[in-house]
Amino acid sequence: MEKRICVLPGDGIGPEVTAEAVKLLEDVGRRFGHRFDVVYGDVGGSAVDEHGTPLPAETLAACDTSDAVLLGAVGGPKWDREPVERRPETGLLGLRKHLGVYANLRPVKVFAELANASTLKPEVLAGIDLVIVRELTGGLYFGQPRGRQVGPDGVEVVDTLKYTEHEIERILVTAFEIARLRRKAVTSVDKANVLESSRLWREIAERVADRYPDVKLHHVLVDNAAMQLVKKPAQFDVIVTENLFGDILSDEAAMLTGSIGMLPSASLGAGPGLYEPVHGSAPDIAGKGLANPLATFLSVALMLRHSFGLQQEADAVEKAVEWVLRQGWRTADLTGGQPPYLTTTEMGDRVRDAILTGEYEDAKDAV
Ligand code: NAD
Repeated sequence: MEKRICVLPGDGIGPEVTAEAVKLLEDVGRRFGHRFDVVYGDVGGSAVDEHGTPLPAETLAACDTSDAVLLGAVGGPKWDREPVERRPETGLLGLRKHLGVYANLRPVKVFAELANASTLKPEVLAGIDLVIVRELTGGLYFGQPRGRQVGPDGVEVVDTLKYTEHEIERILVTAFEIARLRRKAVTSVDKANVLESSRLWREIAERVADRYPDVKLHHVLVDNAAMQLVKKPAQFDVIVTENLFGDILSDEAAMLTGSIGMLPSASLGAGPGLYEPVHGSAPDIAGKGLANPLATFLSVALMLRHSFGLQQEADAVEKAVEWVLRQGWRTADLTGGQPPYLTTTEMGDRVRDAILTGEYEDAKDAV
């Protein structure tokens, strides 16, 4: 297979973690016989410095002609006082909008070796392996009318929760397709006992489920879902929900792992998918070789699976990461800063070596 990937390193630790990911892609290609061509673009603060805008037209053109986009992170104190059109985050939001990515995927897996990094008890964490599929471009964050005015009883505010049938159906289809690649169970989260939008959501979920007889569908009210996520998180496979509920639940679920340097994400639409670690640009550790590259590696695994359909290769990356952790290798964020720990490049080398040698496969058999 031949694929073209647009890499947007961004700011802070972004260039460090994406450099490791590009080497990872080369080695996955070498091991499995694929060719991944990489092109680069500027985004965020570094693009402001270079081009006077956080999202140059050249970057958009490079993304449009690629099969997938890998982003490091954007932002940092240097650009905090810039006007809104020159802020790094404006570039990121513009990129998501341009790519039309309406489905945000956040897998949450607790690696047994890192269970003590979480605030929850190990017995609650055992077996967590879920994905939150969040609708990203509709609902309360975008609905019109919105605003504030003064009425007869003082200040009045309005936000509008609006969804079309099409927007709901396509995100549910995404969730069912993902479930087919996993344990074939979808939990649709809504507030159908109160909200009109949720009642339509539930109807459409039932309709889509009829097309996926091999996938089980459960409906859970959002308040109960929030409780279940900390009570018995291992019960979930794929959770699908609208924008606001997804925003809150995905951060709640992220905290199950306790280590931000481990969390990948994917944003999917009709065009190239956007893959990025959940963490930011970590200016406090930038340039020191302390960044954990594993969230970016796991984002590459999502790219291989969801944009290229390379299931075996995606599994290889995820298993190699797990194997490396099982050997006791850690970056500084995973040891609380206590030596010994590996640098960014050393951790990258360990994972790549495991992929090239296939060591992780032997280890799996031995468990
Ligand atoms: P952050 O995620 O950058 O950092 C939070 C803490 O986690 C820091 O102590 C950092 O050192 C640590 N950390 C984060 N990623 C790590 C990694 N891979 N390895 C080791 N340690 C890691 O969040 P923040 O400090 O709130 O934000 C810093 C900048 O990043 C801000 O400018 C913010 O706007 C931006 N940001 C960007 C994105 C994005 O690009 N998607 C997301 C969040 C924040």
